[in-house]
Amino acid sequence: MDDERTLKIRSRTDCPCDSGAIYHDCCRPLHIGKANATTAKQLMRSRYTAYFFRLVDYLVFTTHPDKREKNLHEELDNTVDDLMWRNLKIINSSQGGKDDKKGKVEFIAQYHHDGELLELHENSRFRKYKGLWKYLDGKGQL
Ligand SMILES: [Zn+2]
Repeated sequence: MDDERTLKIRSRTDCPCDSGAIYHDCCRPLHIGKANATTAKQLMRSRYTAYFFRLVDYLVFTTHPDKREKNLHEELDNTVDDLMWRNLKIINSSQGGKDDKKGKVEFIAQYHHDGELLELHENSRFRKYKGLWKYLDGKGQL
């Protein structure tokens, strides 16, 4: 687990989701359960950052229960270290607003795998569950 010092330094650095804000004011409140994403795009960003920091609990929590496989946590635990995320660019989004029930976000995320810089281009679908935005599924290519 991360020690306190790592967490402190992390808090003051720019958020990996590329919002321009520092992590402390951006995705962190969502990650520690102090705030909820108001839009699908915000959830998308916070999930990217959760992949970046390997916050498996948050990734499971923000996956829609209909799509939450029994072994999701274990699977993420086993795979989350394989990719080094580098950069997120949101290209497009539709619906996913405060008063919507579903939304779509298209993004390109760059990552390193075995020393190679690769790209994931995905169309993600989000749906609200009990008033909270959740990741439903995505069509994309690694
Ligand atoms: Zn962020």
